[in-house]
Amino acid sequence: MTWLRKAKEGLKAQQRRRELPDGLWSKCEECGEILYHKELERNLWTCGKCQFHFRISARTYIKILLDEGSFQERFSEVVSTDPLRFRDARRYVDRIKKARESTGLTEAVLCGDGTIEGHPLVAAIMDFDFLGGSLASAAGERIARSILQAIESRHPLVILSSSGGARMFEGILSLMQMAKTNALLARLSDAGVPYISILTHPTTGGVTASYASVGDVILAEPKALIGFAGPRVIKQTIRQELPEGFQRSEFLLQKGMLDRIVHRSEMRKTLAWLLRFFAAAERLPHPPRRRAGESLARFRAASGPIPSPVGHAPTAAPSPVPERGTSPAAAPEPESSPPSPAGAKPSTE
Ligand SMILES: [Zn+2]
Repeated sequence: MTWLRKAKEGLKAQQRRRELPDGLWSKCEECGEILYHKELERNLWTCGKCQFHFRISARTYIKILLDEGSFQERFSEVVSTDPLRFRDARRYVDRIKKARESTGLTEAVLCGDGTIEGHPLVAAIMDFDFLGGSLASAAGERIARSILQAIESRHPLVILSSSGGARMFEGILSLMQMAKTNALLARLSDAGVPYISILTHPTTGGVTASYASVGDVILAEPKALIGFAGPRVIKQTIRQELPEGFQRSEFLLQKGMLDRIVHRSEMRKTLAWLLRFFAAAERLPHPPRRRAGESLARFRAASGPIPSPVGHAPTAAPSPVPERGTSPAAAPEPESSPPSPAGAKPSTE
């Protein structure tokens, strides 16, 4: 009777695909729903039925999150060499060349600066299509330079992670990037410049174990796989059954590893709120600054997946968010509390 059930549930695509083909229809990897390409694009590449978030490129994230035309790319001249002359099935240099051709990027992270609703920020967006979004010397150097740029300009730093971890083709040079970026993030923190980390599906390995996990605010997309080692390795090591939904955003939110799960259609609005909040908080004298801290704590407490209004553009209707130009002292007030999720119950798969 298996085939009957399959017919009822729909056949699931075996192939995990990230950027969608030019065809008219695509199948959701999670629920098997057939989705009209144009509608999928309107929903920012999320399934209207099960809210599955398709993997998208760094440039698409820039388009979705930042003000149109505001992004200025930086550090594109920093590229990987092949220090170990690494070769397995293929030469590392050939792999890089192919990744460059298929993604149009020169490394696994796209760095630069821009604005969100007029608020300046320094952004580093990882792209999983470039050798699995792996962290190597050039990617680490670009992130390091972005952190320095944030310290210098005092503009908040946003890093969006999508990564399989450190790039083995550069051996220990890749691993060193974890320490390098974190040391600079400590300097960023000392300078009092905010850092927002966004985790998308998947964020694993050395990226989770370094800069992705140390944001002042840590956001994640729904159902994203986030972890260090894969579930199979952990299971073999500890010889125990793993809990349901293990290493997914919803599970990590319950355990306090994340501040909030944000639907892709709400991400721009949420970032705008945070940037406005941090800008207002910086202008406050000390005692009200503590109240600003309480307001941020409320943002964290209101966690939970934000259900997607179908066909909702990210720029539309920022209702519970305080308008720009609100007086700084007003930021911590309850009426300007963070965008709260409508159906806040975190769901596990
Ligand atoms: Zn779906």
